[in-house]
Amino acid sequence: MLLKSLEIQGFKTFPDKTTLKFDRGITAVVGPNGSGKSNISDAVRWVLGEQSTRTLRCTRMEDVIFNGTPARKPQGYAEVTLTIDNSDRRLDFDGDTVAITRRYYRSGDSEYLINKVAVRLRDINELFMDTGLGRDGYSIIGQGKIDSIVGARSEDRREIFEEAAGISRFRYRKEESERR
Ligand code: ATP
Ligand code: MG
Repeated sequence: MLLKSLEIQGFKTFPDKTTLKFDRGITAVVGPNGSGKSNISDAVRWVLGEQSTRTLRCTRMEDVIFNGTPARKPQGYAEVTLTIDNSDRRLDFDGDTVAITRRYYRSGDSEYLINKVAVRLRDINELFMDTGLGRDGYSIIGQGKIDSIVGARSEDRREIFEEAAGISRFRYRKEESERR
């Protein structure tokens, strides 16, 4: 699965609309300490539906919205769009391109979109389930993640293998149907 681009606006250190285009191969982000490199990976986690403020390195969800500098006023909302090349149909979605968007307002309202159509968070979660890319996927390895995988309880570690093997979807559906 290839990421095509990431569009960030009003998120953490990105008050203005900033578009990162990813070519084939490896993309590296370089810059001084505190310049916003990790905020880019936070934006990817966030648009994939991350709900944990700790994982997003903030205390309240509102903290992801650009909170101003002496020269710029804070923004009213944050918006991130991740565009994925789906020409290989790795995602269960009928389209060559899938663009997922998350928007969050200071009022606490949030929106999720797939190709500009409003969806629920669970639609985003289901789209990425078993692909390794979703919120609980293993494709983003943050600092300390390796240690936590090695030191995890065996049940928790099994979840990582279930996601890689592509069977999380079935466990999720089973649990959903048992809940009803
Ligand atoms: P390092 O090289 O130390 O890892 P980095 O380039 O990864 O640095 P980040 O952690 O991405 O840096 O960015 C940290 C900066 O983001 C801090 O200066 C912090 O003030 C700023 N920041 C975080 N949230 C917001 C926000 N909501 N609005 C404005 N700035 C923010
Ligand atoms: Mg960093």
